[in-house]
Amino acid sequence: MSNGIQIHGLTKAYERGGQRLVVLDELELEIAPGERAALMGPSGSGKSTLLNLIGGLDRADAGQLVVAGERVDQLDGAELAAWRAETIGFVFQGFNLIPVLTALENVMLPLLLTPLSRKLRREHALRALDLVGLTDRKSHRPSELSGGQEQRVAIARAIVTDPQVILADEPTGDLDRASADAVLALLVKLNEELHKTVLMVTHDPLAAESARRIVHMDKGQLAREEARS
Ligand code: ADP
Ligand code: MG
Repeated sequence: MSNGIQIHGLTKAYERGGQRLVVLDELELEIAPGERAALMGPSGSGKSTLLNLIGGLDRADAGQLVVAGERVDQLDGAELAAWRAETIGFVFQGFNLIPVLTALENVMLPLLLTPLSRKLRREHALRALDLVGLTDRKSHRPSELSGGQEQRVAIARAIVTDPQVILADEPTGDLDRASADAVLALLVKLNEELHKTVLMVTHDPLAAESARRIVHMDKGQLAREEARS
């Protein structure tokens, strides 16, 4: 099955104080299967809104959205949640780990939605932690990890269900350069070795350079794009 993204006429507006704020304005975008793309643009241009729609965290008002072969705009609430759980891995700027759980327990969490036994959930989570190089931190809680390590745990959690598409919203925004580079290297590895489609929002030019394609948004539309070698 194709793990690309096809977006046609995607529109999203918010009501605020009686005003209608159009955040995505008949957006057109195609992300090829296995692509590694960066999405840039001014604050408020609709980048997070777009990522949340692609990942099924929010719903569009109009337009077509096909992700990994599924017409996401046509799924109802329960279908959308089930589809998201098996198709999408999300990585956020603030890591969003559960503070009272260990690294391993955090990574096991998405597998609670699957029929896997506890033993298999643990095995899958250990494999994901190994992939991000944090096997030796599996019993640490988030407060006992550096920011870079927290984000790598969050990446392990995002990939533990083996999703086809990884969506990352400013994944290096809270990290020092060295930690940011380690996170970017992991996203490249997930793309090149595991063939995940990766779409990353960033305003860090160095982060964007790790992508093979850079798409610029402005005021809810595509402004321009750069193909990279
Ligand atoms: P970006 O990620 O590019 O900075 P966002 O997609 O977060 O931009 O937001 C785009 C615009 O939509 C902003 O003006 C923001 O204030 C507005 N917005 C985002 N989410 C909501 C919401 N839930 N309710 C109302 N307005 C929102
Ligand atoms: Mg944002």
